[in-house]
Amino acid sequence: MRNVRNKRTKTVCTYCGVGCSYDVWTGGAGGDRHILKIEPGEGAANNISTCVKGKFGWDFVNSPDRLTTPLIRENGVFREASWEEALELVGRRFSEIKAEHGPDALSFISSSKCTNEESYLLQKLARAVVGTNNVDNCSRYCQSPATQGLFRTVGYGGDSGSITDIAQSALVMIVGANPAEAHPVLATRVKRAHKLNGQRLIVADLRKHEMARRADIFFRPNPGTDLVWMSAVTKYILDTGNAKMDFIERWVNGLEAYRKSLEPYTLEHASHICGLSIDLLKQVAQEFIDAPSACILWAMGVTQHCGGSDTSTAISNLLLVTGNYMRPGTGAYPLRGHNNVQGASDWGAMPAYFPSYEKVDDPAAKARYEQAWGVKLSSSKGLDNHEMVEAIYEGHLKAMYLVGEDMYKADANANFVGGGFEKLEFFVVEDIFFSATCQYADVVLPASPALEKDGTFTSTERRFQRLYQVMEPLGDSRPDWRIIQDVANRLGANWKYTHPSEIMAEAALLTPLFTGVTYERLEGYKTLQWPVAADGTDTPLLYTEGFAFPDGKARFYPVDWTPPSEALDAEFDLFLNNGRMLEHFHEGNMTYRVPGIDEETPEGFVEVSPELAEARGLQTGQWVHLHSRHGEVKTQVYVTDRVFGDQVFVPLNLREQAVNLLTGTHTDKVTHTPAYKETAVRMKTL
Ligand code: SF4
Repeated sequence: MRNVRNKRTKTVCTYCGVGCSYDVWTGGAGGDRHILKIEPGEGAANNISTCVKGKFGWDFVNSPDRLTTPLIRENGVFREASWEEALELVGRRFSEIKAEHGPDALSFISSSKCTNEESYLLQKLARAVVGTNNVDNCSRYCQSPATQGLFRTVGYGGDSGSITDIAQSALVMIVGANPAEAHPVLATRVKRAHKLNGQRLIVADLRKHEMARRADIFFRPNPGTDLVWMSAVTKYILDTGNAKMDFIERWVNGLEAYRKSLEPYTLEHASHICGLSIDLLKQVAQEFIDAPSACILWAMGVTQHCGGSDTSTAISNLLLVTGNYMRPGTGAYPLRGHNNVQGASDWGAMPAYFPSYEKVDDPAAKARYEQAWGVKLSSSKGLDNHEMVEAIYEGHLKAMYLVGEDMYKADANANFVGGGFEKLEFFVVEDIFFSATCQYADVVLPASPALEKDGTFTSTERRFQRLYQVMEPLGDSRPDWRIIQDVANRLGANWKYTHPSEIMAEAALLTPLFTGVTYERLEGYKTLQWPVAADGTDTPLLYTEGFAFPDGKARFYPVDWTPPSEALDAEFDLFLNNGRMLEHFHEGNMTYRVPGIDEETPEGFVEVSPELAEARGLQTGQWVHLHSRHGEVKTQVYVTDRVFGDQVFVPLNLREQAVNLLTGTHTDKVTHTPAYKETAVRMKTL
């Protein structure tokens, strides 16, 4: 290996939405692809820290498993192909299918791992080149319900403040989230504030994870009942005259209808449904009454239910009743899982929205994009990810272009999704590894990971940051923005972007929320939090002089509880929970290819409570089969008091035995986010 001079390049971590920035040192005797060290410097979110994945999780870029050349499937076998041959085939088949079945027979899915520029380009390809709004991204699997809850109540779907607001809040409540493993650097800010600054901490979760052990109040509601206890706490605060009436009268509409909707949510009712004591519910309410400022953090434990949007709405309602918006240290914080969950949706990879959340049937927005792109656009809402799979089975959807997602493992009910892929007439998958999804593809296009490209990401706190290319793309792999452009041009476009900065320069000016975003303003460690005005002024605290509705007022939004879709019964008698492991990222395609992380990771496991272990004579290390109504997996028992009673937990990051072989097709009523957390299973010892 040629000895090269050491090089230092600023980038942004891709392993969660906290958005840690740091310098990557490469070079030395290992050559210019050799990563010497990761050095956290001046990142706005992380300053001098990173977590284990951010620090050590990058050697996958040199994995021998990387895709380095396009692949074409012939007679069930993949063979290597040139870019010319692969792109010609993609262009020809997409054109044929469009000609035969119309533009809505095609679909496009972006990834929350892609840059903002790439998501913008993919939705432009779908809308302007193909003529369909069938475009979505993988935040459909996680945070769409949280966004919906905030759309309904305060107007924007983004976090209402910054991570510094969470750190300076008097009270933090974490619901259905495990930030110590899923968002470690953010969790450290809470731990520090709790330990050193007297911040109060409430955790509501099924699992007694690290933050739960540290909390002042920790409780385990019955699965899928968060809306009920949250509404009861809110009603109690209103009924006892402790609501922030000055704030409500000035800034919120709809109190009386909302108050009436809360009538069923008495403390007694909540106690019965949620399995919590009335005293505990009063204690939680009192914490909110006493706290001068409060934030609520939530994630998949809330959103991945049939009522995920409604529970997210209830969270925002509680914050409005207690006046916890529009001040430092307050607000709503849905924790984004991928690095660019926020950006993928911000930039229009959604079936009903152009970039910056303008509806596709909004005449003014449509006219602006038609003029800029020089085409006529469809104003019919497209299909979301879940609807796409159903439309394949119904015979309406014939082709899919999937960028950067292992959808077979990431979507719920893997057997159903895989069966759908088999029915597609033409399926293109673009990724850095040959994922489980690639086995269904007709063409696989080799992409470059973040370290091999330029661009911007937007973190959970609406923060734009630059990532710089650390090394050249491996082999014949290419950045997604280049491949999307190549595909667009094979379909008749004439795009000539030579760098992502040109894409941002075009895209930002088309949007009301990101107008002032430029690469110059994001140089190095500089950041911008949206909305960004034309003069570059950004917005760390999202609401300061009103909410994002025409009259500037927020809205109480009445919601009802939806019981979990799969109840326990004699045959399926255990409740299946699932979530992240600290060491791994989602389906594990990247982190299992980092030797240091892989070697330290145990085999797949199912967490079993001590009481369940005793009742069934189970021991750690014992092999079991888990069966649901949708599939089965084989795994090993791990007995731990992190879980309770008849609840079991399987990590979503298992290498072989995807937890989504067990989950079903039921979804959130509003957004179609899969209700991953509503699956009943039975366990059989082997
Ligand atoms: Fe990366 Fe998230 Fe860890 Fe920061 S906290 S280093 S963004 S995985």
